[in-house]
Amino acid sequence: MSSNSDRVDIAVTALRQAIIEQALKAGTKLPEDEIGRHFAMSRTLVRAVLGKLEAQGLVDTYHKRTATVARPSLEEARDTFAVRRALEREVVKGVIRHWNANVEKALKAHVAEEETAHARGDVRHSTRLAGEFHLKLAKLSGNFLLERYLYALVSRCSLILAIYGRPHSSECAISEHLALINALRDSDVAAAERMMDEHLNAVESRALLDEDMTAEPDIGAILSRYVARTLG
Ligand SMILES: [Zn+2]
Repeated sequence: MSSNSDRVDIAVTALRQAIIEQALKAGTKLPEDEIGRHFAMSRTLVRAVLGKLEAQGLVDTYHKRTATVARPSLEEARDTFAVRRALEREVVKGVIRHWNANVEKALKAHVAEEETAHARGDVRHSTRLAGEFHLKLAKLSGNFLLERYLYALVSRCSLILAIYGRPHSSECAISEHLALINALRDSDVAAAERMMDEHLNAVESRALLDEDMTAEPDIGAILSRYVARTLG
């Protein structure tokens, strides 16, 4: 029997993944009773799950009877990218301070994984890996707060791309990640910051207004898939 906090974590991870990979689209209702039934948890625990997702900018619960997948406005989307650019400049400085051969190896292995997913045409997986590249950098910066805030910002940026991006547009260009690794290795702070800025500008510009809304999906079926993967 898993503890309550384990079950909350499993539900948060499954829902987060389903939202970021666009299986649950912006505006989709997330009824407490349905989620509670699915994860065999009380309403109190379901509210804890939704609260954590709200802190990541993925769910709206305020002033609503039923929580929904968040739908940031275009202005909020621009603000999110502005904050992310500022924080990722700090990440760049931290990573350069902590650079060594193992860091380079880990980052290159991650990009190789991105390439494999991209070559397979696995858009969902490669989009997830693209976000994880930035989270890996944040972790390598050695600043725990940066890591935590970036986690929320990268999640929200993935949601923004899901709402406003062209269908199947990828979040990050793999070649840009490789160029960034080279600038970090050269310990050129100014060049690496500039490259990160340009990269994030490119990511933002791919998030063009092109709303893609479909009918309410079968939440139970989607969650089954994501829970199986979270546990597997
Ligand atoms: Zn990127």
